[in-house]
Amino acid sequence: MEELQNRLRAIPAIDRLLTEAGEREVLAAAPHGLVARVLRVVVDAVRSDIKNGKLRDTSAAALVDQAEAMLKKETEPKLRRAINATGVVLHTNLGRAPLSRRALDRMNEIAAGYSTLEYDTEKGERGNRHSHVTARICELTGAEDALVVNNNAAAVLLALSSLARGREVIVSRGQLVEIGGSFRIPEVLEQSGALMIEVGTTNKTSIRDYEKAIGANTAALLKVHTSNYRIVGFTAQPTDEELVDLARRHNIPLIEDLGSGALLPQEAGPWEEPTVKDRLSAGIDVVTFSGDKLLGGAQAGFIAGKKALLQHMACHPLMRAVRIDKLSLAATEGTLLDYMLGTAIKEIPTQRMLHTSLAELKKRAERLSGSIGQSGAKLRTEVVPIDSQAGGGTLPAVDFASFGVRLRMAGVSASELERKLRTGAVPVIARVQDDSVILDVRCLTEDDMGEVGKIVALFGEEA
Ligand SMILES: *Cc1c(COP(=O)(O)O)cnc(C)c1O
Repeated sequence: MEELQNRLRAIPAIDRLLTEAGEREVLAAAPHGLVARVLRVVVDAVRSDIKNGKLRDTSAAALVDQAEAMLKKETEPKLRRAINATGVVLHTNLGRAPLSRRALDRMNEIAAGYSTLEYDTEKGERGNRHSHVTARICELTGAEDALVVNNNAAAVLLALSSLARGREVIVSRGQLVEIGGSFRIPEVLEQSGALMIEVGTTNKTSIRDYEKAIGANTAALLKVHTSNYRIVGFTAQPTDEELVDLARRHNIPLIEDLGSGALLPQEAGPWEEPTVKDRLSAGIDVVTFSGDKLLGGAQAGFIAGKKALLQHMACHPLMRAVRIDKLSLAATEGTLLDYMLGTAIKEIPTQRMLHTSLAELKKRAERLSGSIGQSGAKLRTEVVPIDSQAGGGTLPAVDFASFGVRLRMAGVSASELERKLRTGAVPVIARVQDDSVILDVRCLTEDDMGEVGKIVALFGEEA
């Protein structure tokens, strides 16, 4: 009993530890309050261990060592970079679209100092934040006018609130979709203050269904690109011509939530996603789309279409609540410039990943497999053909053929290996398929490849 008291008494006082901490570079530079708190946590833990009969080194040096380690860990950034070995190009949980060099450069320049965000240098007076990208979007899509907001969800909400609050919006039952958990078309409509009029059935809606629903209180027709699923089989939707004609005859706007918002005709790839330009030239009045899906830029939402309708939205009170921040805006301009200058497929990472040839993916997988294969007898690698996905609620029915490295480690289960990969200093997110870990090479940069090779090699040494 007395010995226990003696051991507890041997723990140095916080003041003494603070003095010791002052000798350490990291601790000396940190705010006093933070250092004191960390020291108290360490001392409390040691005290409680001792009370539980454990032997602990209670020297000031040992305790301060612990405090230093704890402070370093606590102040590490929580939002960290990760390596995407899932093959899902637009992985919402992994941040969707990595940015192009040009987008990053624009963002860096604007972030570091003051900018012309809302300043017109010609007139020497207040300018418009949208003006930096409006003309570029119009040029790329043929739109009369364009707005950019926080994300596509905000774009849809703003468009509906501004055009249809307190009035009716007609939408097909086959398009009442949910996108990524919290974005459901019926709920967004409700939030906007519009009254949803559902027409048709899940699989079939005709132009007659729309026509019958139009009344004195109809504010708009809404079309939703069912970007994350497909209804196949016995299905029907009116043609674009029918919908456009109906909207024109009744003088009501036709709005389309396009979701992904491709800017390039995608004939180069094995997929088919309508471009914004196509949709506008088909006669849709207002199109909304994301900045960080197929477009491959920063998080943003675009509204493109008829000037008269967009001007209405630009002065809506919600505009302020959904406005885009200067960093995303700067990055967005960089990405749009890549499209204008013809460097999109080469320079925008997501475009590049989606366009990588199968032969190139195979070569990459062989290289990765080779670099891992030489590291430790317990690791086994094998190059395997697999399917990867676009992700981000785009191209649902399209599997992209890809190549991956199947990774096996003697005595370690696939789920344990997958956990080891994702819990390291640089998380590597892989998938488990057929009871083995697969590293899909589609989304790995050259640097990622080297890094994954090194990380896995360390596992081989540990074993
Ligand atoms: C992804 C998507 C949204 C939401 O877009 P965010 O940019 O993620 O807000 C809305 N509608 C459709 C059809 C989508 O595919």
